Amino acid sequence: MKDDRWFSDLSRGLTFDMQPELLNLARLIDDVQLNATVTDSIRWRGEASGEYTTRSAYLLQFSGSISSDFCTSIWQCWAPGKCKFFMWTAALDRILTADVLQRRGWENNYFCPLCFRNLETPWHLLTECAWARRVWSALATCSNLPALQPASWEGTTTLSEWLCLLGTTVDKRKGVQSLILLAAWEIWQERNRRIFQKEELSVEALIVRIRDEAALWNMAGAKIPFDPG
Ligand SMILES: [Zn+2]
Repeated sequence: MKDDRWFSDLSRGLTFDMQPELLNLARLIDDVQLNATVTDSIRWRGEASGEYTTRSAYLLQFSGSISSDFCTSIWQCWAPGKCKFFMWTAALDRILTADVLQRRGWENNYFCPLCFRNLETPWHLLTECAWARRVWSALATCSNLPALQPASWEGTTTLSEWLCLLGTTVDKRKGVQSLILLAAWEIWQERNRRIFQKEELSVEALIVRIRDEAALWNMAGAKIPFDPG
């Protein structure tokens, strides 16, 4: 460690909360010995050789990023582009729910328009809301897919985790993913209907709507496992 005078000289004028940072820096450079006879050189830390390559620079852009399963849970299943885009933006917390509007300082209703009990967030609206959970529960029964029962989602805290869980716990994976995207889209449509048109459907009416839409999607190749009865 450098002597105390070195530290007191450097720390003079720093605020109290900056001094731990300076101490940490002192520890890091404590063993560094500068040699005046050696010329400085630039070393690229992205490659073991120290040489710059465009490949390593490209890969560095993804350093620390979190991998997701969106490819299989959203993009590879059959669904209209608008529904895939909605689910993707919802999973990234980018849809304009009340929490996002609040952060931007925009006008909002605060409460979820489906249950009027909680702050509206993407996670709440699609998975946590008591009204939405009744929809999922009814769909689980209609499609004979227990994994769609909200009680089986324990442990998930984000839409990404939830999509991943649903994708790995059900058979007929792509068809089920289509159904999940369709149901999420219809719940979002119901939310918008209540806010902008001041109209609302019952859970039962929304299930009929999802069933009719699923039949159309299946005609186009979706393979949604949905019992029309
Ligand atoms: Zn709600």
